[in-house]
Amino acid sequence: MKAATATINLNALASNLKKVKEQSPESKIMAVVKANAYGHGLQHVATHAHGADAFGVARIEEALQMRASGVVKPILLLEGFYSSGDLPVLVTNNIQTVVHCEEQLAALEQAELETPVVVWLKIDSGMHRLGVRPEDFSSFVKRLKACDNVAKPLRYMSHFGCADELDKSITQEQTELFLSLTDGCEGERSLAASAGLLAWEQSRLDWVRPGIIMYGVSPFNDKTASELGYRPVMTLKSHLISVREVKKGESVGYGGVWTSKRDTKVGVLAIGYGDGYPRTAPNGTPVLVNGREVPIAGRVSMDMLTVDLGPNANDKVGDEAILWGELLPAEKVAAHIGTIAYELVTKLTSRVEMEYID
Ligand SMILES: *Cc1c(COP(=O)(O)O)cnc(C)c1O
Repeated sequence: MKAATATINLNALASNLKKVKEQSPESKIMAVVKANAYGHGLQHVATHAHGADAFGVARIEEALQMRASGVVKPILLLEGFYSSGDLPVLVTNNIQTVVHCEEQLAALEQAELETPVVVWLKIDSGMHRLGVRPEDFSSFVKRLKACDNVAKPLRYMSHFGCADELDKSITQEQTELFLSLTDGCEGERSLAASAGLLAWEQSRLDWVRPGIIMYGVSPFNDKTASELGYRPVMTLKSHLISVREVKKGESVGYGGVWTSKRDTKVGVLAIGYGDGYPRTAPNGTPVLVNGREVPIAGRVSMDMLTVDLGPNANDKVGDEAILWGELLPAEKVAAHIGTIAYELVTKLTSRVEMEYID
């Protein structure tokens, strides 16, 4: 029996991509698979994401890994290239790039490439992380259009900073700015990631760029993916390696941060922060044991964590526990820990056994 296993349901992945298409039928899908497909396994996800029209990654190594596994669909570097030496690699491997700054533009202008590169000009429409400022937009367009190393037509994208917050007006403002800047431009446009495509219809445009929702995790605080019609792709499991009696007044684990208020049974699971389960998970964070939610009791250790099974528990050594996934949304666990489910699924370590089911 493996200590910790992440089961990846490729059926759920397919169903989520289908759902994205239903929700945004006019848009092509750029499936975002950065960071090892949000911890789900880049190669398996990329080769099974049949509903995707292209892929988005953050690092050139991720794109090359996909090419090495036989992926032929377009791949976009969402932050662009980091050094001019990458440009010939993009050409050879048919990888598209974002251009978001003067340095990238200058590198393209100075390069000598055999074939032009597909370029997405990234506009800072209000998030103020990456992208060219609106006042610099037309000069970037002019120079990119004049550059022989850039395939025509040019493409345009931007990214939302608060699309998961439905009561904020900034997303609408970003959308309007992006649409007005690119109005009349010939090339394709992309604005929405998961929250955008789910909640901001106007932002869907030619391409949507779903990441988290494709993995069946909600980008919103107050709605789980299942409530939105999506299925969790990852289920993280472990099992009980001990069921112990703990008396009222006794404390469990490092630092004694949990003290039992009653005689009870404590279950020890074979998973800890060495597997990527956050050490910061406080007492009370839910774990699913034999179909019922039980609270973490005591500090998460490197290889183990402890849960209060209750005085009447019949759970046995070897019984399975679900840390998140189907029946226990990662969003809910993340809320207890004070993080987002993106971080939970992305941070599993190589010690976790990956299992793929179809
Ligand atoms: C990560 C990323 C996405 C996907 O975001 P989700 O919220 O996971 O859907 C889309 N576009 C860009 C530029 C990104 O960096």
